[in-house]
Amino acid sequence: MNYRTNLLPEIKKIILGELTPLYGRNESQTMLDILIEEYFGLSRVEQALNRDYRLSESELLQLHFAVKKLKAFMPLQYVLGKARFMDMELKVNGSVLIPRPETEEMVRYIIAENRQKAPSSILDIGTGSGAIAIALKKAFPQASVTAVDVSDAALEVAAANAAANDCEIGFQKTDFLNEREVARLPRFGLIVSNPPYVTHSEKSRMSKNILDYEPHMALFTANDDPLLFYRAISVFSRNHLLPGGKLYLEINESFAAEVCEMLEKPGFNAVKSHKDIHGKERFVSGIISLPL
Ligand code: SAM
Ligand code: GLN
Repeated sequence: MNYRTNLLPEIKKIILGELTPLYGRNESQTMLDILIEEYFGLSRVEQALNRDYRLSESELLQLHFAVKKLKAFMPLQYVLGKARFMDMELKVNGSVLIPRPETEEMVRYIIAENRQKAPSSILDIGTGSGAIAIALKKAFPQASVTAVDVSDAALEVAAANAAANDCEIGFQKTDFLNEREVARLPRFGLIVSNPPYVTHSEKSRMSKNILDYEPHMALFTANDDPLLFYRAISVFSRNHLLPGGKLYLEINESFAAEVCEMLEKPGFNAVKSHKDIHGKERFVSGIISLPL
């Protein structure tokens, strides 16, 4: 590290010169502003007003190491160790997927659709950072929420996030592809999942910051079968949803029809697929029929 100055505006100029070829001017500027606000408590406006702000040696080092990670394409959320989801700040690390805006769209839809009649119990399959389970517990505090994942490291992060948000959630290590393990779960009023759904053939179109840093266990399905989890979850939901219970599944935009078809069998009603703000098919919902 050799910035040859400790004056913040000068250092910013140097760092921007390093990041811009990799991320473009706007994104580099935004990321740098977020780092400076996070580390030194200076908003963009405060930075502009404090043109003679100087960094200490340890502050310089802190910034230097963060920029080094960004230059190696580590996502900013992993550099900071946290991500925003709904109105929350969640801890994230390399064992959990960074919660996505499209998942937030699905959660907002679930909250709006169930506001009149809150579910009594909820299951989140493949909880990762706990984003979905925690957001739903906050929206429906009376509901008992269970969240499962196959990854111990993810469950640890999710439990820390639930505690930080004062949410009581039953976390459980479960391999959802193991029929015997899932059979032990009770019935629920609402089941939700954002399972792994990326195919290996999509790898070539994915950016380095996802491929090199996000857990492949969260992204890719085994045997390159994009519907693997949907098959397991639709069978499970038929037996584990209470009458009138609802299922919500985030999907790969290319497989909306297949997932809908899988659910449109006796048992499920009102199977619908929903587009995200970019017009891509993003999640599917269905309701288990009430007994006649
Ligand atoms: N729910 C989080 C979200 O929406 O941000 C994370 C979703 S991530 C796409 C999928 C999650 O499923 C990962 O946390 C991964 O560890 C978990 N997972 C992968 N295989 C699984 C399995 N066989 N059983 C249970 N969970 C699994
Ligand atoms: N939407 C995520 C991505 O763009 C993938 C999430 C998933 O596989 N469920 O990488």
